[in-house]
Amino acid sequence: MPSHRCHERIGRMMGLSVEALRDANQLIDGPERWLNTHGFYEINLIMKLFGSSLKHDDDRKLGMKWVRFILQSIHGQQGILAADLHYAIDYIERWLDPEMAKWIIEKISMNDLLPPNRHGFVHKYRREWSPAYRDNFLPITAYCSTCKGRMKPINAPFCNECRIDLLENAKGSVKITLELIINMLAKKIVEREICQEVVDFIRRNLQAIIEMIIEDRRQRGLNSIIAF
Ligand SMILES: [Zn+2]
Ligand SMILES: [Zn+2]
Repeated sequence: MPSHRCHERIGRMMGLSVEALRDANQLIDGPERWLNTHGFYEINLIMKLFGSSLKHDDDRKLGMKWVRFILQSIHGQQGILAADLHYAIDYIERWLDPEMAKWIIEKISMNDLLPPNRHGFVHKYRREWSPAYRDNFLPITAYCSTCKGRMKPINAPFCNECRIDLLENAKGSVKITLELIINMLAKKIVEREICQEVVDFIRRNLQAIIEMIIEDRRQRGLNSIIAF
């Protein structure tokens, strides 16, 4: 995660108050401590009772709701914006971390390769598959979309032969572009219902924000993906 100094610099660029930014950064990155020292001891207790206590950089939807609610009660709309900006900046940073980005891309390419609407049927005891139902055939969730089941019938999206090829290809073709980051960020922003004001701010200043995060990483001795 970027340093709080970096989060604050970007937040001030957006015109948010330092107080709202500090509370957002500290609450999101160290919820236990912040809640107990800012008069939210009971809320922390209630969240624990319901098994939904906040964790560090908790961006599950329920966690985000709590964070927005708490910050809004102190800072009004600025509190919500500061929280959403924190999440968004954390998302961007993940893509600038070469190892993390590579891991995410591998995961996504695997998901993209899953044929979601493919169904087929496999013979009860022979290694045969059929795209349509036949006597003695059982439904399978999917058949290999690469070799179309030529290698062997399977009860998984890919037969082992094709899966190995795909894994190798996915690893070899990892290339992070600014466009990819924007697409992934857009997806995350929609999923997590990030405030429009934050989205607009990021859209207008993405290049500058990326540069600030990269500089922050450099100061912490971390390499970043910079070849866009
Ligand atoms: Zn964070
Ligand atoms: Zn195959």
